[in-house]
Amino acid sequence: MRRDLRLSDLPPLIAAKESGDEVLICFVVDPRLEKSSGPRRLSFLFDSLRDLDDQLSGRLLVVRGRPDEEIPRLARAIDATSVHVSEDYSPFGRRRDAAVADALGDTPLAAAGSPYLVSPGRITKPDGDPYKVFTPYFTQWRAHGWRKPASSPVPDADVVDPSSITRSGRISVPAAPTELSLAAGERAATQRWRAFVDDDLSGYDSDRDRPDLDVTSRMSAHLKFGNIHPRTMAADLGRSKGAQAYLRELAFRDFYADVLYHWPRSAWHNWNAQFDDIELDSDEAAYQRFDAWKEGRTGFALVDAGMRQLAQTGFMHNRVRMLTASFLVKDLHLPWWWGAQWFLEQLIDGDMASNQHGWQWAAGTGTDAAPYFRVFNPDTQASRFDPDSTYITRWVPEYGTDDYPEPMVDHQAERAEALRRFREI
Ligand SMILES: Cc1cc2nc3c(=O)[nH]c(=O)nc-3n(C[C@H](O)[C@H](O)[C@H](O)COP(=O)(O)OP(=O)(O)OC[C@H]3O[C@@H](n4cnc5c(N)ncnc54)[C@H](O)[C@@H]3O)c2cc1C
Repeated sequence: MRRDLRLSDLPPLIAAKESGDEVLICFVVDPRLEKSSGPRRLSFLFDSLRDLDDQLSGRLLVVRGRPDEEIPRLARAIDATSVHVSEDYSPFGRRRDAAVADALGDTPLAAAGSPYLVSPGRITKPDGDPYKVFTPYFTQWRAHGWRKPASSPVPDADVVDPSSITRSGRISVPAAPTELSLAAGERAATQRWRAFVDDDLSGYDSDRDRPDLDVTSRMSAHLKFGNIHPRTMAADLGRSKGAQAYLRELAFRDFYADVLYHWPRSAWHNWNAQFDDIELDSDEAAYQRFDAWKEGRTGFALVDAGMRQLAQTGFMHNRVRMLTASFLVKDLHLPWWWGAQWFLEQLIDGDMASNQHGWQWAAGTGTDAAPYFRVFNPDTQASRFDPDSTYITRWVPEYGTDDYPEPMVDHQAERAEALRRFREI
C-alpha cells in the first residue's frame, strides 16, 4: 500500500488475489518521506494505517526502511510470486518504484490502477503532445471516461498474518506526531463523502467559492492518501449543476497530475521558462515580509485569515489559497516556491501536483495560468467572498480593533510594481 490506503475499489488487491491464494498487505514507512512530509501529513498517514489495520483485524504489516530493500526482503521471506501496487506517477514515486522493480529481480512488480479518474499520460492531443490548457483537456477527459468502481473484498482468511513471518521487521503503526482537525482513514472518508453528498453537493456550484460557508467537501486529504478512490465518488455524481461542478474539480486534480508527469521539472521551476528572468526579492526585508505572510499579520484581513487557518489546522479554503498565493507573488514580489514550500509543510492535503501547479497558476508561470496582469485585490476578494467577514473574524478575532496591524504594503502601488517587473521581461 502507498497512496491507496483503503480496501474498497482497490485494483492491485484484486490482481494480487488472482495471482496467489494468499495476500500479504504491507506498508513501508520510508524515512525519506518521513523527513519531507510535515507532521500533519504524517499524522494523517499513520491514522489511515491504523484504520486499515483495524479493518484487517491486525493483519497489516508495517515495516520501516527503504522500499527497494524491504519489499524484496519480504517477498523472499514469504516466497511471493508477485508484488502488486497502484501506479504512482509522481517524480519521486516513479524513481522509487523503478528501484523496487529492479531489486525484486525475477519477481514481477505489477501496477494496476492509479489515484486518478484518468491516469497521467492517457490523454493527449491528436498529435500526441500533452495538453497545456485545462478546457480542451477537460473535454477529452470526459470523453475518455473511467471504469466503474472495482469490487475488492478480502476475506480475513486470505490475508497472511504477519506474526507468522519470521523476522518480518514488523513495527507498530507509529503514533501520530500531532492531533488533526480531520479524521483520517477509509471509514472516515466514506462518512465524510456521504455527508457532503447529502448536505452540500447540490449547492456546490454556487457556494464553493465562499470560505465563510464552509461547504466544500474536505475530501482533498482523503484523495491524497487514497482513503477513497475518485471513481467511487464519481459514481455518486449525477447530472445536477452541483455534481458537474464537483466533477470539474476532480478533473483539475487529474490535469495537474498529468502536467507534473510530463514536466517533472515544473515541481520547483517555472513551467513557463519565459518568466525565469523576472526580478524577485530575496534580501533580508523579503524574508521579513515572508514571515509576516506566514504568520498572518499582513494587515490584509482575508489573507491573514487564510494564513492563520493554514497554520492552525493544516487546511485553507481554495479561494483563499488563490488569494494568499497571489499576494505573496504579486504584492510581496517573493518567489512562488517559497510559498509552495510553506504550504507543503503545513497542509494535510499537501500534494506535489495540485500544490505546485496551484502556485504556478497564481504566479502566472504555469499552464492555464492566471494572466500575469490579473492581480487579486485582497479587499475586493473579501467583500465578494466573505461579505459579512464571518470567515475573517473566525480566524482573526482582533480584526477591527487597534490590535490588528495596518496593511504592510500599499496594494495599488505593489500591483503597479508587479506589472512593471512583468513588463521588463
Ligand atoms: C496555491 C494553491 C495550492 C493548492 N495546494 C493543494 C494541495 O497541496 N493539495 C490539494 O489537494 N489541493 C490543493 N489545491 C487545490 C484546492 O485548493 C484544494 O484541493 C481544495 O481547497 C481542497 O478542499 P476540498 O476538498 O474541500 O475541495 P472541494 O472544493 O470539495 O473540491 C473537491 C476535490 O477536487 C480537487 N480539487 C479542487 N480544486 C482543485 C484545484 N484547484 N486543483 C486540483 N484539485 C482540486 C481536490 O481533490 C478536492 O478535494 C491548491 C490550490 C491552490 C490555489
